[in-house]
Amino acid sequence: MARKYNFSAGPAMLPTAVIERAQQEMLDWNGSGMSVMEMSHRGKEYMSIAEKAEKDLREVMAIPDNYKVLFLQGGASSQFAMIPLNLLGDKESADYINTGMWSKKAISEAKRYGKVNIAADMAETNYTTVPTQAELKLDPNAAYVHYTPNETIGGVEFDYIPETHGVPLVADMSSTILSRPIDVSKFGLIYAGAQKNIGPAGLTIVIIRDDLLGKASSLAPTMFNYAIHAENDSMYNTPATYSWYVAGLVFEWLKEQGGLEGMAKVNKRKADKLYAAIDASDFYGSPVARNARSWMNVPFTLANADLDADFLKGASQRGLVTLKGHRSVGGMRASIYNAMPEEGVDALVAWMQEFERSQG
Ligand code: PMP
Repeated sequence: MARKYNFSAGPAMLPTAVIERAQQEMLDWNGSGMSVMEMSHRGKEYMSIAEKAEKDLREVMAIPDNYKVLFLQGGASSQFAMIPLNLLGDKESADYINTGMWSKKAISEAKRYGKVNIAADMAETNYTTVPTQAELKLDPNAAYVHYTPNETIGGVEFDYIPETHGVPLVADMSSTILSRPIDVSKFGLIYAGAQKNIGPAGLTIVIIRDDLLGKASSLAPTMFNYAIHAENDSMYNTPATYSWYVAGLVFEWLKEQGGLEGMAKVNKRKADKLYAAIDASDFYGSPVARNARSWMNVPFTLANADLDADFLKGASQRGLVTLKGHRSVGGMRASIYNAMPEEGVDALVAWMQEFERSQG
């Protein structure tokens, strides 16, 4: 059966080579006579899988030694609470940059635990832009600055890393992690749900600088305490073993693609092709400011929304699926994470051109 080009925002496509490898190893991992799903997380076989995955992620992202990598559960949504519970410490407030739906969720959760200062709010542009550095109203006494480098729903992406003058920078990288190289040392904490660019759902990765550990509120549940997970190598309780294993296969795959430099080249090319198709005529449009256009999530509209259903139907007949825009935005959204082959974007562009001709 042919695999479809799945433009879902997440769970999203995984590299076919990774799924095939998982399939080969499904019943008997490396002569162990067991599936990875059946292994004790404390056994020597599984420990080797877990350690290899962390080592490869550290290599691929060039994570400095003074950062811990945690393999947690609960999704990025749990991080919305874990971050204030762990990082507010004795500070009064934290700064949050509001660029859309996911920033808003992080903000409303943080407000349950402390004071939130909105350093910038892009409501006036209907969340189609990012603030400039000069527009950020940062509080030098903030416990941390939180932002969403890539808003998955709006398709709005920062084209710079905010300068916070020593205040720890916290980034929700759920939909942009591993899409290109980043300088981890500029961040206090990076987090991401796995189901877009890392692996299967159920795993949440947190990369945290050592000095931010050990400041959790006494009210933080044990499972919401970064220091507990760091001290226990993410095995305080049973981790999402199978998702962690598949993530490890994805990290190996990334190394074979030339690492994040290699990924960045392909991702930029894919995004450029798609935006060029959108910009080629007035038939299609992008709501997002040019400097804030995401490489990973590309929302676009048809000038005549009455044609949306026909566009989606024809796309689906060509194996191009999950292109319907988020219910809050409408139109279309093509998520083109690492595992979306360039041929998938080429096929989408070809369909966009064919559809426009057929209507013209
Ligand atoms: N943040 C961003 C930027 C996201 O895209 C998502 C998921 N779409 C989330 C947070 C929530 O992630 P989860 O479902 O893993 O809780």
